[in-house]
Amino acid sequence: MNFCIDTLPKPADNIMTEIDIDALQAELNHKSPRIILKKALGLFDNIAISFSGAEDVVLIDMALAIRKDIKVFCLDTGRLHPETYRYLEKVRKHYQLDLEILTPDHQKLDAFVKSKGLFSFYEDGHHECCALRKVEPLTRKLATVDAWITGQRKDQSVDTRQYIPEVQVDKTFSSEKHRLVKFNPLLNWSSAQVWDYIEAYQVPYNELHKRGYISIGCEPCTMPVLPNQHERAGRWWWEAETKKECGLHAGNLQAPSP
Ligand code: SF4
Repeated sequence: MNFCIDTLPKPADNIMTEIDIDALQAELNHKSPRIILKKALGLFDNIAISFSGAEDVVLIDMALAIRKDIKVFCLDTGRLHPETYRYLEKVRKHYQLDLEILTPDHQKLDAFVKSKGLFSFYEDGHHECCALRKVEPLTRKLATVDAWITGQRKDQSVDTRQYIPEVQVDKTFSSEKHRLVKFNPLLNWSSAQVWDYIEAYQVPYNELHKRGYISIGCEPCTMPVLPNQHERAGRWWWEAETKKECGLHAGNLQAPSP
């Protein structure tokens, strides 16, 4: 079912102070991705989709049926697979998107690489490199929007993604003066449901998926997984499961409520 933009409520200027997130979460609890997206895009004018270059492309496909003027951004860490760069371009052309590519602060990155080289994450963990290549550009971007939409799903991690809600105040990237809201429309979909959608609607996908990659990130930190391995086994495989968030969703690492 497609939603038309003129059926959406007009976003209010002072929406941030008006929204009761608990009530909104109660309304969106276990709702379908389309319903969550429609609500998010109806409530917020200044909202953007974060695209990882993987199967979260379904968010773009669904959102365009709701609103043609969606903003989409992705993070170019400088370490993505060549296949992912080609895929980003394919998605941009396929949907005629004004895809915003975010890059790290080059001075900070130059200093980091000069002092620690190109593969320090294998020795002292991925957080420092992710902080520079992902979190810093994302922080800059999120300071300019009122809400963002992610492709997080519960089935991506039994350790870090089980307790996230459909909508939340993003405590990681909010500040005293800027409350940021985060929507997770795919939260309750399984990987199989996402792939059913990709097949049914002939959505373009990253060719790495055909070579055993399920979760796709930077080239040095991602590898294909075996048939019965969990998808996150292919990310930062030298680290503990409970540390496998790159800072984009750092709030997921906080202890869940009892
Ligand atoms: S995933 Fe790996 S290469 Fe990419 S930013 Fe994080 S540590 Fe660096």
